[in-house]
Amino acid sequence: MMYYSTNGKAPKAGLRKAVTKGLAEDRGLYMPESIKRLPDEFFRTMGSRSFVDNSARVAEAFFGEDVPSDELYRIVSETLSFDCPLREVEPGIFALELFHGPTLAFKDVGARFMARLLRHFTGGEGDINVLVATSGDTGSAVANGFLGVEGIRVFVLYPKGKVSPIQECQFTTLGQNVTALEIDGTFDDCQALVKAAFVDEGLNASMRLTSANSINVARFLPQAFYYFHAVAQLGTGDAVCCVPSGNFGNICAALFGRRMGLPVKRFIAANNANSVFYEFLQTGEYRPRPSVQTIANAMDVGDPSNFARIWDLYGHSPEAIRADVSGATYSDAQIENTIRDCYARTGYLLDPHGACGYRALKEGLQPGETGFFCETAHPAKFKDTVERIIGAPVAVPERLAAFMKGEKKSVALPADFAAFREFLLTA
Ligand SMILES: *Cc1c(COP(=O)(O)O)cnc(C)c1O
Repeated sequence: MMYYSTNGKAPKAGLRKAVTKGLAEDRGLYMPESIKRLPDEFFRTMGSRSFVDNSARVAEAFFGEDVPSDELYRIVSETLSFDCPLREVEPGIFALELFHGPTLAFKDVGARFMARLLRHFTGGEGDINVLVATSGDTGSAVANGFLGVEGIRVFVLYPKGKVSPIQECQFTTLGQNVTALEIDGTFDDCQALVKAAFVDEGLNASMRLTSANSINVARFLPQAFYYFHAVAQLGTGDAVCCVPSGNFGNICAALFGRRMGLPVKRFIAANNANSVFYEFLQTGEYRPRPSVQTIANAMDVGDPSNFARIWDLYGHSPEAIRADVSGATYSDAQIENTIRDCYARTGYLLDPHGACGYRALKEGLQPGETGFFCETAHPAKFKDTVERIIGAPVAVPERLAAFMKGEKKSVALPADFAAFREFLLTA
């Protein structure tokens, strides 16, 4: 499979290059040249196959030309060492729980898959350096997904004081091949530093760099597995799918799934107060702006990187996008009310991101429709916030508590490219 750049000014690349480079030379995002439709037989029988087996068929469609089948199956089965169950929150509304992986947030699947694919392509060739900007959850998922993988060094850039204490512990206490960089700025500053590093010729001449943000095809495409698994569990093809969105990697993977024939009625992208995509749907114009801080901080993104992919997937047509995807946006106060109300009525405890998804779905469903929303993080990852909202203690799973016991280590840097560059060259 060849991958082209959304900016159209870089040469096409094979999977190996797309995965090891991350971003194309013209700063565009790589897109597969074609998206294979899965046969009807697959959809008829998906309900009787396991998460791993269905996902392996999806992975085969994306990566089968470039990775031997048995190797790809091994990568998928190692990645999916946990389930993503559907739970009925109330009649007709299901939560697709994506938080049962090692860091209790949905990015584990993409990170674990990418680490294994990168090792497949670069094993034994000397160090490769993974740069990742995080507003909270990406850093922990990527750091844990890559932890201890030989020949790979990981640099996590996070905005000082803007991630939760539990999230911070999940990438600052690991050590080994993981270095945490505390940037005096916002998430957008972190993302800009990473993007600048990828196009700096001198830096790239002296070290091999790649990205593990959802701009990397190996990180975002495997997220399509979730949506096939949801439909397989639901047993119906006409559900509405709602995805709480920040950088739009997760929903973009779902839309790729639709192109592969996945039967979903329509999609809803739920935003917090960072409503650039919501406004795009209203006006047809994409106007990125600096992000604002919210209690659903993994969605605090002012210029969603995967917008370029969605724009391209739909032939640069706002109407075509609107035909498949609607939007919603919620303030912190609305998110808080939703968590409180859902918990009181149903006993189901949402995290602030899932709360946007739940509310957008509940408000968006027409009478008689069924839907599912992605519950993207375990509520205990936002313990202080959620406890304050519901006025009751939230139990912390053992896996999460273990991170809190480690020693925090990070390097403080200004939001300045020259300083970041210098640090990398001497690291
Ligand atoms: C990353 C993240 C999101 C947003 O996902 P995107 O793919 O960036 O749209 C939502 N919720 C949680 C908990 C996340 O970690």
